[in-house]
Amino acid sequence: VDFSPSEGSAAIAAEVREFIAEHVTPEVIRQSLDTGTMHNWALHRALAAKRWLAPTWPTAEGGLDMSEVDAMTLMNELTASGAPLDGGWIITMCAASGLRAMGTEQQKAEVLSKIIAGEALVALGFSEPDCGSDVAAVRTRAVRDGDEWVINGQKMFTTMAHEATWVMLLTRTDPEVPKHRGLTMLLVPMDCPGIVVDPVRTLGGERTNVTFYTDVRVPAHAVLGEVNKGWEFLTYMLTEERGSAFGAGISFMGTIRRVLANSLAWARQTTSEGRRPIDQSATRRRLALAAIDLEVSELLNLRSIWLGSRGEDISVDASVAKLFCTEALQRITSDLLESLGPAGLLDYRSPDAPHAGEIEHAFRHGAVTTIYGGSSEVLRSLIGQRGLGLPRG
Ligand SMILES: Cc1cc2nc3c(=O)[nH]c(=O)nc-3n(C[C@H](O)[C@H](O)[C@H](O)COP(=O)(O)OP(=O)(O)OC[C@H]3O[C@@H](n4cnc5c(N)ncnc54)[C@H](O)[C@@H]3O)c2cc1C
Repeated sequence: VDFSPSEGSAAIAAEVREFIAEHVTPEVIRQSLDTGTMHNWALHRALAAKRWLAPTWPTAEGGLDMSEVDAMTLMNELTASGAPLDGGWIITMCAASGLRAMGTEQQKAEVLSKIIAGEALVALGFSEPDCGSDVAAVRTRAVRDGDEWVINGQKMFTTMAHEATWVMLLTRTDPEVPKHRGLTMLLVPMDCPGIVVDPVRTLGGERTNVTFYTDVRVPAHAVLGEVNKGWEFLTYMLTEERGSAFGAGISFMGTIRRVLANSLAWARQTTSEGRRPIDQSATRRRLALAAIDLEVSELLNLRSIWLGSRGEDISVDASVAKLFCTEALQRITSDLLESLGPAGLLDYRSPDAPHAGEIEHAFRHGAVTTIYGGSSEVLRSLIGQRGLGLPRG
């Protein structure tokens, strides 16, 4: 096992912190909290200018040839700043990994180049009102009509659809075959007539969307991968994503780190009654448990990306990391919120909110993170079956 950062890792962290000081201003964070849109175009373009949208990609493809471990350093620093990244950047780069591996030359030239330049986002239109975990059951239909596909249906949780140029849409193209075999992935421009986007605010404060498609027409070459091979495209893309430094578990570690650092600072302050929270054994215990959770989260993620970089199947390891990180975030924020007492319930809009309401926000966000990218229950089943060889529950 070799988790060593490169010699340049400290320099990367310093460069990221400099970048954060310039681009992740309190206004940028406040705007994302107010709107629920976890994306800021100026910040996104600045990341693109640094070649940080896909730092592990080869330089010829707009990256920096960075190792996964160094990319994790970059990601950790950025997410610990509270920057709104998990909307635009993370979702779009998930789509980009699929396009890069399985897109046509035309799709790469038209779409990938704009993504890497920081000029366009791609939303993911997989989940529907009646299927999320069992995504192969999608009902949105795409029917071939001459040189076009005609799409009718509805998608739920199409995060960033209101900012994206395209949506990667999982559609049913053959209803007669077993569900996994009748799916096709289409790349649909969001400005097509017949698309309606309605906002949905989540418990975590994040804005996502419900999207409707009525007689939406796209050309035959909008197919990603092959017709009726949408399941293969989806699973390839998600596996690639989970194995990278931008995988689901990693993006939550920054939040844990930030919450812990701010809680430590709070605990060391003297209250108006002349006491320091850190002098109470209950507070020290909570902070110590949070520190252990953070350490384990980091090691699980490092192990997962290290295995991925060796070309090993990491579906179980990445699931373990995502499951642990998101549940750790829930545990830690719930525990630290209790330490803050009633004041901890004030949100970021209240001037009296401790740490500008950050723990309160992270507590609500923590609940949502255990749902997307594979819910905790589904991941436990996967770990039990594939990791431990247990029978299907
Ligand atoms: C903030 C947010 C953003 C999202 N963004 C996107 C996006 O951009 N694009 C997109 O396509 N989707 C997105 N999603 C959808 C997300 O992927 C789904 O919510 C998730 O897959 C769960 O599906 P569901 O909501 O339909 O719940 P269900 O699948 O109906 O699950 C309901 C409950 O049943 C449990 N459950 C389901 N199946 C099993 C099983 N086999 N065994 C045991 N328990 C089970 C689940 O764990 C959960 O507790 C987003 C969701 C959220 C909350």
